[in-house]
Amino acid sequence: METPPRAWVSNAEELRAELANRGQGFVKEVKNQLRKRGSEHIDARVGALGPQVEAAVDCTRCAACCKVLEPELSHEDVQRLAEIQSQSAAEFTQLSTETSNSGKVFLKASPCRFLKAGSCSIYASRPESCADFPHLYRPYFLFRRLIWEHYSLCPIVFNLVELLRDESTADPNSPSDIGKGLCST
Ligand code: SF4
Ligand code: SF4
Repeated sequence: METPPRAWVSNAEELRAELANRGQGFVKEVKNQLRKRGSEHIDARVGALGPQVEAAVDCTRCAACCKVLEPELSHEDVQRLAEIQSQSAAEFTQLSTETSNSGKVFLKASPCRFLKAGSCSIYASRPESCADFPHLYRPYFLFRRLIWEHYSLCPIVFNLVELLRDESTADPNSPSDIGKGLCST
């Protein structure tokens, strides 16, 4: 099905303005509308539509996630960021990261220390979790708590949900697999 052209939300200000027009209870309504189409179907459509939405939003001009989230760091991220800071991995870990009870390592402080003049100063070397954000392509899109938390933060998530709604309205008789799986990440 061809996707209709639409005006993309491209930054936090535009997103706030859009959400202000939607009113209370809108997200619940959207979830219910999309769940009628089924989790597997939505995951497949996220896979198909996600790349065009990501291409339409310039993250270097948005940076909304960089202001409020603390990205998780892999071992390789720590090594690379330490080098950028001219520090040893141990120094960088001690000064710039924190470790969760489950042993995950996160870059400490928000806004992010690498956010300079509104954009990422290490974009080409940013952590893997930044490059993958907002993590669209994991299973059970509809049931992932973080997707819906990021709906009001990230223009990519918002725009993608708009496209899914458009499809749902245009084709309400698609298959349903309600209740096939739950996931909170
Ligand atoms: S490293 Fe760059 S992309 Fe990641 S949160 Fe910081 S500023 Fe944003
Ligand atoms: S991932 Fe989302 S919130 Fe982060 S910079 Fe890109 S559009 Fe903005």
